[in-house]
Order: sequence, then structure tokens, then C-alpha cells
Amino acid sequence: MTDVEKTKGAQADANAAIAVHRLRKTYRDVVALGGIDLTVRPASILALLGPNGAGKTTAVGILTTLQRPDSGTVTVDGIDAITHPHDVRSRLGVSGQFTALDSVLTGRENLRMVARLSGCSRREASRRADELLERFDLAHANRRVATYSGGMRRRLDLACALIGRPRVLILDEPTTGLDPVGRTELWRIIRELVAEGTTALLTTQYLEEADQFSDSVAVLVGGKIVARGTASDLKRDYASDSVHLTFSEPSEAARAAGVLEVAGQSPVTEGDRGLRVSAEDGRRAVAAIVGELAVAGIPVASASSSTPTLDEVFVRLTRQSAT
Ligand code: ATP
Repeated sequence: MTDVEKTKGAQADANAAIAVHRLRKTYRDVVALGGIDLTVRPASILALLGPNGAGKTTAVGILTTLQRPDSGTVTVDGIDAITHPHDVRSRLGVSGQFTALDSVLTGRENLRMVARLSGCSRREASRRADELLERFDLAHANRRVATYSGGMRRRLDLACALIGRPRVLILDEPTTGLDPVGRTELWRIIRELVAEGTTALLTTQYLEEADQFSDSVAVLVGGKIVARGTASDLKRDYASDSVHLTFSEPSEAARAAGVLEVAGQSPVTEGDRGLRVSAEDGRRAVAAIVGELAVAGIPVASASSSTPTLDEVFVRLTRQSAT
């Protein structure tokens, strides 16, 4: 790395809401994190994706100051999380897969309790609890949390994480187990918070959500960040569009496959009358391929193109790293 690159990197880190540098954590002989770098710019969402065992929980544990790394640096809102965990905690809101709510209390009582524990006066705690119940559409649910649905618990858990008006949110699989409506609702709230200036780092196994709602994505495999960028960047760099062709007769599909194979387009069969071809620009390729087959005297019954999904990128990166 040149001096100019180092200076630019240091500036990017200084301006980041979360900056992780060469973070390493091992458990005996297992390397959970092998020296990862991550930056999240303020008021944005980074989705940290990865297969099981990739190191996401370990990264979240270190970011939330619950675990210490072997080496590397972590700053949250400009504060060193390893040397000043208390200061970092006061700026963090954390919401996880396993909510830490007291089921015998009502939602309001849970919120008041968290507010009091975080140093609010009795009056301020009540005010903040009411405000959050309203925002999370839980004001009517004046009953014990034991009777809440999974979605209500998730909303309440996130509300608890917001008591101290955190500048940075760490959300570990916040939408796992929620139905599509519950997930959309939770994302709406997260996006609203980010629009107000909060920064969020979250893990999720729902890649279409990461694609739709996050500003950037980092893919962690085997303790290493193997790709990062916007979802569009990743799709462009690690996947391609597809052209889908169907034919009236299986024999036409077979002949077309031969023509495309000779043209170096590696067609993949889809059923006995369909073919799929990868292309950099699917829309353009459709016309070219249909024309190519027309010249060979093969009529195409239908032709369309599709853009790749983040799932395809994820599968490719995971397989690539495994080999
Ligand atoms: P998942 O999606 O399954 O929750 P993850 O991406 O969160 O996985 P981690 O839980 O961070 O992954 O685990 C990373 C690696 O570290 C795995 O190989 C795991 O077995 C190992 N690991 C995690 N915690 C411990 C521990 N306390 N002792 C030993 N090994 C551990």
C-alpha cells in the first residue's frame, strides 16, 4: 500500500461510523476472523452476509464489545471499541435473534426498565417508553410480553435498543422468523432510523432483503471478507444476466444448443425445450442470439432476459471460497 493510499484509508476510517481494521479472532485452532477490514459510512446500512460458521456472530460480538479480538482495531462512532468499550456501548443499540425481553412485564414496563437502567429519570423513562411504543405501533398492546407475537417481540426488542438514541445499531438477523409483512414493517422502521442519521450494521440470511434495503453488502466466508460493495456492484462483478430461450420442439432446442455451443456460449438446458445462456448484457444478447439462431434456421418460441439475484452471487462466492 502506498503512503497516499494509507492516508486515504485512514481518512475513510476517521469518517466512518464503524471502522474495522485487520480484525482477527481465533478459538484455539479455529480462525473465526482472519484479519477482516470493514467500514460503514454514517447514516447507511451495511448487510454482513455469510454462510453458517463464516464468523458473523464473532464479528457482531466484537463490535458490540462482548468479545475481545486477538488483534486488529475497531472504532464505533470514532471511539476505540477495544480500549473504551463503555463509551462505545453508550452509543450502540443492539438487537439480536434472541430477544432479551422480560415476558412477565408489559411492553411499556420493559421499555421503562431499560430506560431506567440506562440512567433516565422516572419521568423521562415513561416519556421515552410512550414515544417508542407509538413509533413501533405497540401502544395498544398493554399486556404481558408473554402474550406478544414473534413480530411484536422483535419490534419491542428493537424499540428497547433505541432507548438511548444510539448513533449506531448492530442488528443480528433482525427479521429472522418474521412473516413477510413483519419483515417489511421492521425494514421500514430501520430505513426511517437511517434516514434520521443512524448507522446500521446487520446480519441476515434473507439476501433479497439485503439487496433491497441495504446500502452496501460485505460477504464473509471462512473468516475473510471475500467481496464488498453495493448489491449492484457485486452482481456486476460476480454474476451475469441470463437469456432464457424456449422452443416449440425438443429437437429445435437440441439444435440450438449445438449452434450456441459452437459459438462459445455454453448453453444450459432448462427442461426439454428451454435453454439458458449467460450474458453480460441480457437485453442486448436476446436480440443477438435470436438473430444468430434465425440464421441457422431455428425458430425461437420465446426469449427473455433476467438480471442476477444476490443469492446467485452468494452461492458463487461461497463455492469459490470453498475451492
Ligand atoms: P452462523 O451463521 O451459523 O451463526 P457465524 O457466521 O455467526 O455462523 P460464528 O458463530 O462467528 O459464525 O463462528 C465462526 C467460527 O468460529 C465457526 O467455525 C465456529 O464453529 C467457531 N466458533 C465460534 N464460537 C466458538 C467458540 N466459543 N469456541 C470455539 N469455536 C467457536
